[in-house]
Amino acid sequence: MDKAVVIFSGGQDSTTCLGWAKNRYEDLEGISFNYGQRHHVETDQAKIIADKLGVPLTLFDISFYSKMVISALTGEGNVNLPHEDNHQLPASFVPNRNALFILLAHSFAQTKKAKVLIGGFCQTDFSGYPDCRETFTELMLKSLNLGSDQHIELKTPLMHLSKAETFKLAQQEGILDLVIRDSHTCYEGSPAANDWGRGCGNCPACLLRKKGYLEFIQL
Ligand SMILES: [Zn+2]
Repeated sequence: MDKAVVIFSGGQDSTTCLGWAKNRYEDLEGISFNYGQRHHVETDQAKIIADKLGVPLTLFDISFYSKMVISALTGEGNVNLPHEDNHQLPASFVPNRNALFILLAHSFAQTKKAKVLIGGFCQTDFSGYPDCRETFTELMLKSLNLGSDQHIELKTPLMHLSKAETFKLAQQEGILDLVIRDSHTCYEGSPAANDWGRGCGNCPACLLRKKGYLEFIQL
């Protein structure tokens, strides 16, 4: 069976992806990035979750990136406001972050002889992030394969799922408890435990997650 690499941040979506991948690939590794995000709780949780699932995880430091871009996730801005550079986008948008993650994971996959990359990109509840759309992620991979004469495949099991359906998938894959107890998506870095998972309950990421959980328990 092909080896797979999961782009893993320790958030709800990528934790669900890691559980999904764990049930399908025997040879699996995770890759995580410190891109200069304000809170380290996410990458701390990523290590804990990967350990619990028995998946080797490599964390790369690309914190220089926060000096090149404007985002409320890497700077001091308010996550509830529009983005400084483009008012159509949320302040939490990090320009080219997913492009960078896919590029670096594609390089890592070549080194590891992995033929499959897995990412929790989702265009349904995409929070207004244009780099989560399927057209973008597919074309990015196509360009990287073209530029390196590789045939690495990108799998995005959450691409067309709502947040409620992502909770449902976590349940089906047997990792719902892990998602709720350990994954971390909150923009404020709050570790507070709730029925729907960890977080402050008020930032856009928490509101999306809470809404999704309340819909999920009605399914
Ligand atoms: Zn929050």
